[in-house]
Amino acid sequence: MSFSLVVHGGAGTMKPGTMTPEMEASHHRGLRVVLRAGYAVLAAGGSALDAVTAAVMALEDDPQFNAGRGAVFTSGGRQEMDAAVMDGASHAAGAVAGIIGPRNPVMAARAVMESSEHVLLMGEGALAFLREQNLAWEEPGYFFTESRWKALQTELDRRRLSAEDTRDAAAKHGTVGAAARDANGHVAAATSTGGMTGKAPGRVGDCPVFGAGTWADDATCAISCTGHGEFFIRWGAAHEISARMRLGGQSLEQAAEAVMAELGERGGNGGLIAVDAAGNVSMPFNSAGMYRGRIGPDGVPWTGIYREALRGE
Ligand code: ASP
Repeated sequence: MSFSLVVHGGAGTMKPGTMTPEMEASHHRGLRVVLRAGYAVLAAGGSALDAVTAAVMALEDDPQFNAGRGAVFTSGGRQEMDAAVMDGASHAAGAVAGIIGPRNPVMAARAVMESSEHVLLMGEGALAFLREQNLAWEEPGYFFTESRWKALQTELDRRRLSAEDTRDAAAKHGTVGAAARDANGHVAAATSTGGMTGKAPGRVGDCPVFGAGTWADDATCAISCTGHGEFFIRWGAAHEISARMRLGGQSLEQAAEAVMAELGERGGNGGLIAVDAAGNVSMPFNSAGMYRGRIGPDGVPWTGIYREALRGE
């Protein structure tokens, strides 16, 4: 049996020409590193759960992406991170919301899944639990990036002037995620984010809300979403795709494309990556672009940013 892994680094209105060629190349490079991290797990016979965890850890460590190091700031000037992981074989799930401290929020989500009786822990209570776990921690300075701080100042200025919001959506939010199907036919998904620039303190997005931004079920597929979280929550986006497959007999591609298009019609900007139980992948987005990539048994990473075909290397 073969395996497949898909990853994303956020969706937005990034248009060709708005990034320098160096920045584009750097994002492609970052995505390839991440794909290879997940591939190493799957090629060694590892589980989809371990593969998505490894891929999301690599994305969190890369400050180019809005998760872990490089997370965006709330309107109060703090970073509050959300992360989730779900195992399609058992429906085991774990998530954290509004935390800063663990170097890899996805590992915090896994700790909730594996070492607590709960599915979702938030804020101070989550941190108290996580301090008892064997996790790597960092000071706030580790997570800080100048570009995200500047993005917050720009947004706060805009609000003060009540100016129209003309920002590139990619600058105000972003998320990272992975979905995998392993050689044993099991699927898993993981998502991690700093949320949206200038979000209200305490705001939680779709990422740690199972069925909205993250979902995995061996009977159908594994999904990780990115975009305007409130819309993904209100329309139960990830679970909706799984339900259309399970109850409506749709293929992953049909269900994922349709749900993303409908979300767009309702004003929900974003995209998602998904893999079904047979290893087929889908990466629809209704925004101009989405950092994304996939890798299979041949070990060749395929990556893309805009609507162009993926490039292999
Ligand atoms: N979905 C994330 C959130 O709403 C942000 C994003 O993916 O761009 O927190």
